Amino acid sequence: DYFSESIKKAIRTVPDWPKPGVSFRDITTVLQDKTAFRKLIDAFVHRYHGEEIDAVAAVDARGFIIGSALAYELNASLVLVRKKGKLPFDTLVEDYELEYGTASVELHKDAFKPGDKVVLVDDLIATGGTMLAASRLIRRIGAEIIEVAAMIDLPDLGGSRKLQDEGLPVYTVCSFE
Ligand code: 5GP
Repeated sequence: DYFSESIKKAIRTVPDWPKPGVSFRDITTVLQDKTAFRKLIDAFVHRYHGEEIDAVAAVDARGFIIGSALAYELNASLVLVRKKGKLPFDTLVEDYELEYGTASVELHKDAFKPGDKVVLVDDLIATGGTMLAASRLIRRIGAEIIEVAAMIDLPDLGGSRKLQDEGLPVYTVCSFE
């Protein structure tokens, strides 16, 4: 549609980064383009406008960029899902598998009130491991995930399907097959 085609055009694909065979979807070119950046945030704002959203949970670090602007526009609070070791207060941790090794995401224990309605945001869904771990953290606190949202889906990697299989509605602005 109107949003997704123009935003998709603004994404830069960098071949063989961070390693040979990987095509990295670089969103800095969207952020640098004032029209594309506005359309990107508007896409998310339109999606959730008029819904009762208490908080936007944003994933470290590119999710922070989208989540911050979205929370501001929705008049919602902003919660940071961080990589392990960055949050100073009492936390919950979820470990998840990477292609090689494991990673962890962390959340402050008082980040949500039980029953809070939450949109979880990141820039991209690949295997879905990051979003799944983040959503487990949010559910452990007793908040309700209204939707998992990302700018980009890589459907061939199966992440968005896996999230939906876990009962999480998924919204993505554009996708690369
Ligand atoms: P997943 O956990 O779904 O396999 O990977 C998604 C996470 O890795 C996101 O936090 C995202 O920022 C990062 N990521 C993986 N591949 C890419 C890519 O090609 N472009 C961008 N911008 N982020 C990526």
